[in-house]
Amino acid sequence: MRNHIRPLDPIVIDQIAAGEVVERPASVVKELVENSIDAGASHIEVLLQEGGIRRIEVRDDGLGISADELILAVSSHATSKLRTPEDLEAVASLGFRGEALASIASVSRLEITSLTQDQEDAASILVDFGKAVGPRAAAGGRGTRIVVADLFAQLPARLKFMKRPATELRHCLSWVERLALAHVGVGFTLKHDGRILLEVAASDDLDARCGAVYGVGVAKNMVQIQRQSGPIVLHGRVGPPESARRNASRVDIFLNGRWVRDPRLLRAVREGVKEFVPLGHYPTLYLALSVPPHRIDVNVHPQKTEVRFRDERLVIGSVVKTLQRGLATAPWATRGVGVVGKYDAPNSSSLSSNLTRPAWPGQVRESHYPPAAARSQPGAESALPLQRTPGDTVGQVLSVANTFLVREVTGGMEILDQHALHERVNLEELRRDLRAGVVMSQPLLVPSLVDVGKAELDLLLTRAEVFAKLGVDLEAFGEHTVAIRAIPARLTRLVPEKLVMDLLEIAQEHKSASVDQLMEESLHSMACRGAVMAGDHLDQDGLRGLLARGADLPQDRTCAHGRPVRVFLSLEDLEKAFYRRV
Ligand code: ADP
Ligand code: MG
Repeated sequence: MRNHIRPLDPIVIDQIAAGEVVERPASVVKELVENSIDAGASHIEVLLQEGGIRRIEVRDDGLGISADELILAVSSHATSKLRTPEDLEAVASLGFRGEALASIASVSRLEITSLTQDQEDAASILVDFGKAVGPRAAAGGRGTRIVVADLFAQLPARLKFMKRPATELRHCLSWVERLALAHVGVGFTLKHDGRILLEVAASDDLDARCGAVYGVGVAKNMVQIQRQSGPIVLHGRVGPPESARRNASRVDIFLNGRWVRDPRLLRAVREGVKEFVPLGHYPTLYLALSVPPHRIDVNVHPQKTEVRFRDERLVIGSVVKTLQRGLATAPWATRGVGVVGKYDAPNSSSLSSNLTRPAWPGQVRESHYPPAAARSQPGAESALPLQRTPGDTVGQVLSVANTFLVREVTGGMEILDQHALHERVNLEELRRDLRAGVVMSQPLLVPSLVDVGKAELDLLLTRAEVFAKLGVDLEAFGEHTVAIRAIPARLTRLVPEKLVMDLLEIAQEHKSASVDQLMEESLHSMACRGAVMAGDHLDQDGLRGLLARGADLPQDRTCAHGRPVRVFLSLEDLEKAFYRRV
């Protein structure tokens, strides 16, 4: 038989809405604490039992709710924060949808006790899975106290998705941490079963908060970054590589004070740190973006952690650049080792390795970038020597499996990956040349000819000017062939045919990329292809020559692709391994 159409019971409406807002105890904690912040609280206390599954209590010293508005507060679409449709264009408060309390109250036993400034006595209401009782007089001080007990207890389908208390607790803690990072000026206390898990005073500054959330050791070594691009202001702190993780659990991005999780922003973070953090890892990152409210839309999802930007490319680009520039000067971008067991390195003329000797005879030619005006800048000369003379700071080196270099350094020993190190050396040297305005190119005695498709040839030629700046000379040789006349003089190991295929691939993948981007990609690829491989034999002079060139680079912890260049084992590590120390 056909069922008649009927309006839904309001409690059912709220329970349906609750499905989007209230996922787990942590969502309740987030909504309640945000309400306390919106109410101007200066200290907020969160008390949890069994990871919040049994009971969540949030107390604040904010403005309070008057007795006659308590029922409204738990009604859906009732809010004190939005009045006109225009308000939605520039939301200043954390809440505005007026549905959190109604949703929570429909799936739990919720009690609110509150006292405003102009009332004598506190009042409270109780809502039992959507059914409200009250308001009635109650005992309580200024501010608001909300208790949420037995979340989802009458909704077996939802209860099923709840995880172990420890897991739920972790999510609750994360939200309080995020809110504490975002709201300097507000104090927070989080207690679980009576134990304090997080405590920051209202007077604690951002440093103290980073210490409380990321650990004091990490916070001490965080690098500050900042930047302004037009109306977009960014400031942040990045933890050292040791604090990087395989997941983004330590990435906290705030957009106008609201913690957000956005795949495009996360990708930008990875791009921005890729030379400083091991491959596949995310840094410990606090990043605050401030964008004029009318340029973003936070009303994308009820939980408000997703956003839309009007000028997405500008925002994403700013994040990448802020990280790249900020980290370039990080103290931990290099390890700064002191080498034990100094010896006199051979001078460069006796370096027998193909690491430093040009593989092709012929005259070395300069290709200049930027072309004309900037050429006479100081520093251009110093970038000219093809190979650096190794200093006397290399020490005894052992090669293992023609892949790893082992040597003693101050405080322990170091193991390096010869390919990763050489790749990093190539990259830094090429970048220095580019900055100085001159990249040396090495003409090939006989140009290499590579057959490509007609469209591929056209594509290569449209980018030929960019490649020329990097020391690669290409030109058409008939309709299907490209002739390589010169390659960068520093990269004597480059095989011209492979180089062309790499550059072609980069040009194809980055069709609409800027010149800078294309250059960066090409540099990375050339630095890698021009490096010794794992398994390539290097004699002692070759090993030492490589280490000497890698001795004082601006960045030497990872290769261009984020794999580590060096691993340090301290004496303490060794002593522990041999049970000389416990
Ligand atoms: P929203 O925050 O989107 O307005 P909520 O359902 O979270 O919706 O809250 C409804 C209303 O209840 C708020 O607009 C606010 O007026 C009031 N309220 C909730 N929590 C508090 C609090 N801790 N202190 C003062 N007022 C509160
Ligand atoms: Mg709210």
